[in-house]
Amino acid sequence: MPNEILNVVALQKFFFTTQGTVRAVDRVSFSITENETLGLVGESGSGKSTVAYTVVGIYAPTDGKIYFRGEDRSQPVAKRPKSLKRAIQIVFQDPGTSLNPRRTIKQILELPLKVHHLTAGDRKLEVANLLRRVELPADYMYKSPHMLGGGERQMVAIARALATEPKLIILDEPTSALDVSIQAKIINMLIKFQEEMNLSYLFITHDLSLMRNVATRVAIMYLGKICEVAYTAEFFRNPLHPYTKMLLSSIPVVLEEEEELKPTKVISKGEIPSPVNVPPGCSFHTRCPVRKEICMQADPEMVEASEGHFVRCHLVSGQEAVASS
Ligand code: SF4
Repeated sequence: MPNEILNVVALQKFFFTTQGTVRAVDRVSFSITENETLGLVGESGSGKSTVAYTVVGIYAPTDGKIYFRGEDRSQPVAKRPKSLKRAIQIVFQDPGTSLNPRRTIKQILELPLKVHHLTAGDRKLEVANLLRRVELPADYMYKSPHMLGGGERQMVAIARALATEPKLIILDEPTSALDVSIQAKIINMLIKFQEEMNLSYLFITHDLSLMRNVATRVAIMYLGKICEVAYTAEFFRNPLHPYTKMLLSSIPVVLEEEEELKPTKVISKGEIPSPVNVPPGCSFHTRCPVRKEICMQADPEMVEASEGHFVRCHLVSGQEAVASS
């Protein structure tokens, strides 16, 4: 694909525990192009953060491939070339734990700058410049992370990610731990940096409504698998997977027109099962309000329902119709 930055192919990440095998990510495939934001949305336990940590190299994949600009980069971070570590950055959900409390902001931001072999004076100027870009005063460089508010700490975490001039930033729920008042500021900042630096984002979130104005495409994860992916406008206009409809029908809206666009209310049945005990057949069948006999026996394949709109459901792929005919 032209301008493809990231291509993840049949990625698997299993954890082997005393309770059994946790199939956290199971044959997940997706790609991200230059300047694109892919929103990866799912409930807690869906495996979306495991995808993020595997792409960034914190976890080694159990199977599958991760291609960055066409080259196989499936190895864990310790074995990756420095250029790749600089090109892929991550911003974590909780800046309180991702910033070293024993260092000053200056020391935190200087660390990624060392690759540029700058003099001490130039590094200080660059730290001030990074702080200015995230709209923090330059004298914050002398503070420790605990002296800053949650939003300010997240801005420092974003500045640290920008310091290496990356191509792809993985945003792992970057605003979910913050006050609503600061969330919009951070999102607007991220959009601005994307335009300025031609960045690509893999935006991990449980907040589907946030993706409407942020994502180029939206992918939905359920129990370790992607069950639907589409361009954002198409996704919200024409959701096809029963789980997507369930999520969309429960989004609170403000305007009457938005209410009219929502799918008919689908009552959420039960909780997401444990990834140690993935149900046979379609993994969503234990909660699906429209399941058929085949859903309990066969795992549906991903099919392209319309251009760029992929769905994993027997009702959409027509396999249910074939089975019952
Ligand atoms: Fe529901 Fe069956 Fe589709 Fe799974 S395959 S989402 S159980 S209808």
